Amino acid sequence: MSKKGTGTIVVQGASRPNSGESSVKPLVQSTTFLYDTPEELGDLFDLKQVGPIYTRIGNPTQQDLEETLNALEGGAGFALATASGSAAVTIAFLNILSAGDHFVASSELYGGTYNLFVHTFKKYGIEVTFVDPDATVEEINAAFQPNTKALYGETLSNPGLNILDFDKFASIAKEQDVPFIVDNTLGTPHLVKPFEHGANIILHSITKYADGHGRALGGVIIDGGNYNWNNGKFPDLVNPDPSYHGISYTESFGAIAYAVKARVQLMRDIGAAISPFNAWLISLGLETLHLRIERHSKNALELAKYLQTHDKVEWVRYPGLKEDKEYAKGQKYLPKGQSGILTFGVKGGVEVAKNIITKFEIVRHVAHIGDARTLIIHPASTTHRQMTTEEQLAAGINPELIRISVGIEDVNDIIADFDQALAQV
Ligand SMILES: *Cc1c(COP(=O)(O)O)cnc(C)c1O
Repeated sequence: MSKKGTGTIVVQGASRPNSGESSVKPLVQSTTFLYDTPEELGDLFDLKQVGPIYTRIGNPTQQDLEETLNALEGGAGFALATASGSAAVTIAFLNILSAGDHFVASSELYGGTYNLFVHTFKKYGIEVTFVDPDATVEEINAAFQPNTKALYGETLSNPGLNILDFDKFASIAKEQDVPFIVDNTLGTPHLVKPFEHGANIILHSITKYADGHGRALGGVIIDGGNYNWNNGKFPDLVNPDPSYHGISYTESFGAIAYAVKARVQLMRDIGAAISPFNAWLISLGLETLHLRIERHSKNALELAKYLQTHDKVEWVRYPGLKEDKEYAKGQKYLPKGQSGILTFGVKGGVEVAKNIITKFEIVRHVAHIGDARTLIIHPASTTHRQMTTEEQLAAGINPELIRISVGIEDVNDIIADFDQALAQV
């Protein structure tokens, strides 16, 4: 059968039930799985057979979600769901980097990812160099060192709204022979599939658009199976793993070596597994991802156009606006819609920005994005407050910037709420 569209994959899932099974995927809320003989269980531990043992390293409900997300992104066949997006970022790196290693990342990042890279990884001896995502190839290449082992960026940075220049980043990663890791949380695989643009590993916070209903935290790492780890830089993937019966991941698992190691070694040890209930809740949300993200994108564009005309609004950023600096990249990489996040600044600066947050009736003041409901926040005083002003500016955050995660309500009601809120300041 031909490659299916996003809508079909999210509704149908990656596999069809067998005759007599429940038509929709059940919730398997169990920590453990029963086997009759030590031999059967031994074969599972040896990875000779595939099957659930213990929910920390695998469970049928997690697996349904993993298979659907793998199919959506066009991965190599193995994805790893995690307890949160932050756990996905952490495991994605610790799977291939250790003390003494270095990586290069776009400076326009989610606040939590920034903290992980700058503060926590540093304590483990892993160093990062940030690059302006709009810098030239030469400038980005200059950030590489002999011990650099990954290049990282977000499809659509939050809240800087920089659209990653996939072609540029992929060609640099190729030239430097390091894996290109992409956080596609805000892009979603309905709008853009980073593996088609040279990514090697994709991760998401599935707490956001994948869930969409504000009920469950989750993350995922998807292996593209398109990077050759056997190049001298990643001995842990190639050499026998003493913690796993001397297995060589590349030798035993080929294209899914990275993903298998992430599960049987890192997830085993760190234990940031997604609860089956959360995986199931996210699966429910995921069924409408394609419809929602199109509506998020449409509503965001309409709200952005409205804000452009408002005399109390100083500036508006949405990559779908023709005037926006990211418009061309948006049309190139996310032609079906540019997702649901917009930012704007009000006249009068920070104090007016904080004041307006309190004036809404529908729009909710919440530290979240990707929800069905329209959400508002002032990043400089909340999500990114631990950064200095210089660091905030490098991450694309002006002091007065207000971030909106535009929901899927009737757009006229969203606009009316902005109208009355702006009238009060
Ligand atoms: C929210 C978010 C994360 C972290 O995900 P959690 O599920 O909150 O842990 C990582 N990257 C991006 C782009 C995000 O928006």
